[in-house]
Amino acid sequence: MPGKILVVNCGSSSIKYKLFDADLLTGVASGLLERIGSRPAVLKHEVRGIVSRSEVDVSNHRQGLELILRVLLDAEPKAIASLEEIVAVGHRVVHGGDSFFEATVVDEKVLEALRKWAYLAPLHNPPNIAGIEAARSLLPKVPQVAVFDTAFHQTMPETAYLYAIPYELYEKFGIRRYGFHGTSHRYVAHRAAEILGKPLEKLRMVTCHLGNGCSITAIKNGRSIDTSMGFTPLEGLVMGTRSGDIDPSIVFYLIGEGFSPREVEDILNKKSGLLGVSGVSNDIRDVEREAEAGSKRARLALDIFAYRAKKYIGAYTVVLGGLDILVFTGGIGENDPLIRRMICDNMSFLGLMIDEDANRVTVGRTGVISSRQSRVKVLVIPTDEELAIAEETRKHLLNH
Ligand code: ADP
Repeated sequence: MPGKILVVNCGSSSIKYKLFDADLLTGVASGLLERIGSRPAVLKHEVRGIVSRSEVDVSNHRQGLELILRVLLDAEPKAIASLEEIVAVGHRVVHGGDSFFEATVVDEKVLEALRKWAYLAPLHNPPNIAGIEAARSLLPKVPQVAVFDTAFHQTMPETAYLYAIPYELYEKFGIRRYGFHGTSHRYVAHRAAEILGKPLEKLRMVTCHLGNGCSITAIKNGRSIDTSMGFTPLEGLVMGTRSGDIDPSIVFYLIGEGFSPREVEDILNKKSGLLGVSGVSNDIRDVEREAEAGSKRARLALDIFAYRAKKYIGAYTVVLGGLDILVFTGGIGENDPLIRRMICDNMSFLGLMIDEDANRVTVGRTGVISSRQSRVKVLVIPTDEELAIAEETRKHLLNH
């Protein structure tokens, strides 16, 4: 497929982008526009190893995307000679509700559905939609493909995605487990099968995406059958600032104690997790440093983090009827041997053993970290959500 694919990930005040060669899927240029709406906004742009940083005046996503296209055309070295080279734009969309099982070309009907699901992801979907609308008007002839964080998890059975609350709440408000980080879980699952030379359709896999947000997925024969994030990305594992699983009664108790619902939401999303327990930081490197220096709370934060992940691996191994492959990805999963060791400790009864040396040296790169005797293969695979979105975009265009 000739030309270039532009991948766009719009946050509330940022646009992350990467331009790929549509044929080879190699990166041509990338960048990040931050602080949209403040003065000044900041653009970091990279082409063939040459990085530039500029302060710019950008007040919305449309102006932001316009600027990015101009920079791709004009900044030296030039990433593209003309806008005609862009054959598709792939957009990351956080919430596709239960309308989308796969990536889809955006038309008015799709936009309508995205607006409908925006109430479930008020921080994420509105900027995603703004990005799509901007790209549609700036590149009107180019297909816009939406790639959803939730799509991969649409294969979960009802038993996994329904909560045991009145069924009418599911029917009326769509309250169910949706799951997130789907693009990443899907990508590393495919990569793991490829690396080991085994057919994805015959594997029982658990993938751990451990970054600022953390989630874990049970994948049977290449399909997500359960995942730890739920109705929102708050459920499940301990995260940088999010609590993960708690007893919902804590919410009502705190409200009874005088906290407003908004304050409780803020506590659980922004003041909990590694930060809340350690009192140090949401960044696991800081927490580890403090634990090393003797902080009991920092040690506790790491222990709770690893324990919760272990618990989910156990649950999913049972749900899968056994485990063939465990994958670590995300900033922590890719870079943190200590946490990987803590999570995998004492799992030899499952046939899972880590090779200490391989674990220690596999940092920020792909590698097998299980020992020779380990029946379960344990892999570290750096995730690449932009590449995965470019792949999905291309696949979708070739198939339709
Ligand atoms: P996001 O979920 O925002 O995409 P990342 O996947 O980049 O985040 O993960 C960010 C987290 O990864 C950081 O908060 C930090 O805890 C952890 N991390 C990043 N680099 C390292 C490293 N070299 N060693 C240990 N942890 C790291």
